[in-house]
Amino acid sequence: MHPHLVCFNPECRKTYGISEVLYNCPSCQGLLEATYDFGALDAPTLKKLWRDRRMDNAPLEQSGVWRYRELFPFLEDLSHVVTLREGNTPLLGAPRAAEYGGLDRITFKHQGFNPTGSFKDNGMTGGAAQARRLGMKRVACVSTGNTSASMAAYAVAGGLDPLIFIPNGNISYGKLAQALEYGAKTFQVDANFDQILALVRVLAEKLGIYLLNSINPFRIEGQKSIVIEMMDQRDWKVPDWIVLPGGNLGNVSAFGKGLREMLAVGLIDRLPRLAVVQAEGSSPFYEFMLDGGAGDFVSQTHPETLATAIKIGDPVSWPKARFEIQTTNGVVERATEQEIADAKAVIGHSGIGCEPASAATLAGIRKLTAAGVIDKAADVVAILTGNVLKDPDYIYKYHTGQLKDPGGAPIRSTFGNAPVVVPNDADRIAELIG
Ligand SMILES: *Cc1c(COP(=O)(O)O)cnc(C)c1O
Ligand SMILES: [Zn+2]
Repeated sequence: MHPHLVCFNPECRKTYGISEVLYNCPSCQGLLEATYDFGALDAPTLKKLWRDRRMDNAPLEQSGVWRYRELFPFLEDLSHVVTLREGNTPLLGAPRAAEYGGLDRITFKHQGFNPTGSFKDNGMTGGAAQARRLGMKRVACVSTGNTSASMAAYAVAGGLDPLIFIPNGNISYGKLAQALEYGAKTFQVDANFDQILALVRVLAEKLGIYLLNSINPFRIEGQKSIVIEMMDQRDWKVPDWIVLPGGNLGNVSAFGKGLREMLAVGLIDRLPRLAVVQAEGSSPFYEFMLDGGAGDFVSQTHPETLATAIKIGDPVSWPKARFEIQTTNGVVERATEQEIADAKAVIGHSGIGCEPASAATLAGIRKLTAAGVIDKAADVVAILTGNVLKDPDYIYKYHTGQLKDPGGAPIRSTFGNAPVVVPNDADRIAELIG
């Protein structure tokens, strides 16, 4: 069967054409996902093909996303692809972080090495390609974070106009600065996130704008490449755990789908367990999964965390995320602001560094090993979702003892490293260094 879109709601499962402009199922408002017939794919052939492509200088093969396109063949015409050579992110060992996390060893897959500094690029290259395939001239999202930075870059690189809508008084300057620099038209609207989303949907119909918000199924397809590339880099040896932060829960949805499809095609022989870590002040999915996800999903009206990339009270992809956690025998954990801040400093002190949301992984791992959920000897890959330079203000405050949680309570600089003020005196400085 040709690639198509299917409703994720198990009671609906209606299908739609792959080039229909849809964000939710028109019948039941459920989430949509792309599906394909992988019947003809042969695992050994694919593994060799993908390895050979790493030696190829063609832009499409240099992309750590499109190199693996056989697992997301939604485009008929690959000339629609916009690539900034996304993906290609390293696996990094970090003994100091492993010890802090209660593990013998840990591997970080650092998505902050992407062109705009976060994993959003893996997905955005997929979403931008679909926008071009549909003949759209403009793309839009509601975000002040990494999504807008990434969308702006991919849109202008592909000749599309990026439009960013931001709620009043809710601005993340480092990331917004990227979007401005890449040339996105930015509208600050005096309304909350949900009101703006409704507004943008009206505008989208009126003006032929393609929405690249988190539920866009083609962004999810691109994000599958994170786990595909990870397995390729590990010579297809499946880890025991993959740990990642959770906000809107698009990434865990993409990981689960990618892993299931790799298993179906025979690229891997089992599924790893997925662990999602949320910030305590923004943890509706954690609450929901306490009883296995059997109850009603209750969103949070006022999520609070300094890890702004996961400050999401109403995560749109929760039905997919629940399914993937259940399917992989996964778990959901949460970490306090203090735990995230300290874990972040430990990752920094490993010579690696990441933005606050990413550090929720190590904070969560430390708790999960202490609780005996993750074994000390387990093979664990943690996803660092964003670059250390995304949030320098947070870093300076932490190391100088000025960081406060959203409620105004001080965060201890457990691993603080403040600059030392010294006189212009070699003997005195030598003494201090000595
Ligand atoms: C978007 C983002 C997240 C959250 O990912 P979801 O798919 O929304 O769960 C985590 N960390 C960083 C750095 C992000 O940009
Ligand atoms: Zn439906």
